[in-house]
Amino acid sequence: MQESAAAHLRREHIEVFIRGRGVCDKRVLRALQDVPRELFAPGMSLNDVYGDHPLPIGCGQTVSQPYMVAWMTELLRVSEEDRVLEIGTGSGYQTAVLARLAKEVCTVERLPALTVRAQAVLGELNLVNVRYRVGDGTVGWAEQAPYNAICVTAGAPRVPPPLQAQLADGGRLVIPVGDRMLQSLVLVERCGSRYNMRELGGCRFVPLVGAEGWPSGQT
Ligand code: SAH
Repeated sequence: MQESAAAHLRREHIEVFIRGRGVCDKRVLRALQDVPRELFAPGMSLNDVYGDHPLPIGCGQTVSQPYMVAWMTELLRVSEEDRVLEIGTGSGYQTAVLARLAKEVCTVERLPALTVRAQAVLGELNLVNVRYRVGDGTVGWAEQAPYNAICVTAGAPRVPPPLQAQLADGGRLVIPVGDRMLQSLVLVERCGSRYNMRELGGCRFVPLVGAEGWPSGQT
């Protein structure tokens, strides 16, 4: 069967900007190829959708550059047995990538309109292993804890303690930490009662707004 124009652009993008920058986990690369990014940014041209940059998704929010989604996902080392918590559902693009890799994804978004849209797109893709919640994700989702992996897709002033506490033993958490404009991607790994933390490099995300994040009203 002939590959669609979108699938072709996706394949080229993954080769150049994702594999070309060192992401080599085959399951992650396959998941990226399997998720049609164009569904998450309706009305944008395929050239924009498959550009090496974030995209506006409405409500003043953005979906990350594909490389950032790939890098964060690879760092989380998600297996088929894993339960994953995502904070910042947004368009649902990262949710869809995680849902292709994990047993179950629990995703939290503070803006109801974004959850409604993400839920519809993931439903269309038949990704049924996802639970959605509207609320403040800086306090996690305690009822569904513990999680083998936690992915925070908005920038925080510090690692929210409730998220660390909801990690399973051996679990991984990735989160952009810094000021409102610029952050550093941080990987936290839980080892019993110890949390090992590594800073991995600069990044730029919209602010994580909530009790354990930034105050609202200044986004
Ligand atoms: N993962 C998303 C990225 C969206 S941008 C995607 O693939 O499209 C980050 C999202 O985090 C925004 O939608 C924003 O509304 C949301 N957000 C910010 N603070 C939050 C909080 N405390 N709890 C849940 N979501 C939050």
